[in-house]
Amino acid sequence: MNDSMRRAAAMLLLVLGGATLWWAGNGAPASANDAMVATIAAAREHAAANDPRLKGALRFEEGGWIYVHLEGDPGAMGYQHGYLLAPEIEDGFAAVSVGMTHATQRDWEFFRKAAHEMLWPKIDVEYQQELQGIVAGLRARTGSKLDVDDIVAFNAFEELPDYYVPWLNKRQMAANAPNLKSPGNCSAFVAAGSWTKDGQIVMAHNNWTSYRNGERWRIVFDLAPKNGYRMLMDGFPGVIASDDDFGINSDGLMVTETTITQFEGWDPKGKAEFVRARKALQYAGSIDEYTKIMLDGNNGGYANDWLLGDRKTGEIAQFELGLKASKVWRTKDGVLAGSNWARDPKVLKVDAPEFDPGNKESSPNARRARWEELLKENKGNIDVALAQKMLGDHTDTLEKKEDTNERTLCGHVDGSARGVKEWAWQAYYPGGAVQGKATDSTMAKEMRFMARMGHPCGGDFLAKPFLAAHPEFAWEEPYLRDMKAGPWTEFRSGQSAKE
Ligand SMILES: [Zn+2]
Repeated sequence: MNDSMRRAAAMLLLVLGGATLWWAGNGAPASANDAMVATIAAAREHAAANDPRLKGALRFEEGGWIYVHLEGDPGAMGYQHGYLLAPEIEDGFAAVSVGMTHATQRDWEFFRKAAHEMLWPKIDVEYQQELQGIVAGLRARTGSKLDVDDIVAFNAFEELPDYYVPWLNKRQMAANAPNLKSPGNCSAFVAAGSWTKDGQIVMAHNNWTSYRNGERWRIVFDLAPKNGYRMLMDGFPGVIASDDDFGINSDGLMVTETTITQFEGWDPKGKAEFVRARKALQYAGSIDEYTKIMLDGNNGGYANDWLLGDRKTGEIAQFELGLKASKVWRTKDGVLAGSNWARDPKVLKVDAPEFDPGNKESSPNARRARWEELLKENKGNIDVALAQKMLGDHTDTLEKKEDTNERTLCGHVDGSARGVKEWAWQAYYPGGAVQGKATDSTMAKEMRFMARMGHPCGGDFLAKPFLAAHPEFAWEEPYLRDMKAGPWTEFRSGQSAKE
């Protein structure tokens, strides 16, 4: 059957199911109506579950993560994504969209319009099809009202509120504009040569975000697209890029990043970052190819210091991607760390002019000092097991003591009366390190990585006592959940449940 025939058959099933019940329930309109709604839902779910586009797709849960395998052409991959993760997409969309509108004081229609008019026309056709597929799979499973503009705006949740809106506010000279700052997501490093235990590349990353979003950043995507390389990455339900970012591809590329604190700028004519980042992981087989794809249509959104490894050559790189300037450092013997600071003088001057690299008290600089200390101490011994420990490190280099705050590699900003003013995170902001991942060249060759959900140190965040102590965050209450740490768990491409 082709698509339109399949749709017609599904519609017929819905109409027949509903009509039967309406007749059967004649005389008891209220309950008949309820039953009809239930029947339509059941018929829809039945038709959707038998959709041939789901062939080969898989979902299971392990260690606090949800693993999904998606394969085939872009439309089918999207359909599988939308269908298999439908409840998580609805839930994630609600939590993320409320954050976007709360912070920016712009309504959801504003973001839909930005997605439709500014982002959509520049999205490659294959990703347009994948995004449409997500909507189709989601609607088939739950009857969701979300459309493609909602899903595109949602995919851009890292770039529209904190990059596009501040740029627009400045341009429109908006009165009383909210204090919006580009985010400071993550602590990460990539090491190679004499720095690692056996000379191979080791890459590790923990994701810093609000706990509200981070608790939902629990998907392991095993992607086998019709075109491009096989990919294994962590990610967010409903979003086509890893977005935090941590991924490996079957041609040997290893990818992660940390964002550039106090970055400013946006190009409305550019291509969305989430599209470029997904495309680069899918199609780049070298560091050069990666930088080329990211620079093509650079819109300045979600500006990062990318940390890259090529297991085929043993080379690692730091790709500092501003909007007006960018720079690449590369080596086969060294370590490159990130904690949300830019270092190229030109990038700092033209893309992050407010950032002060000399302020030892700030979260990015204190963590930078800790990375330098910790990586140096362990030169020649760095492996995946040690990387996992480092992601949970609690040394505050400024206070020279163990603590859990905004200056520790494993961040717990809810424990800090200072917050992080550079990211507009107020005192006790419920955010910090929400999960961690690590891999090396051998594991990447076998398409494997280790991942831990929750704080990489193993600590738990509990929403109820937090909200009782900090009523200023009451608006998050419907969405803020406990974030309990899971065990370090290995995932690999082609995995099925209970292996
Ligand atoms: Zn911790």
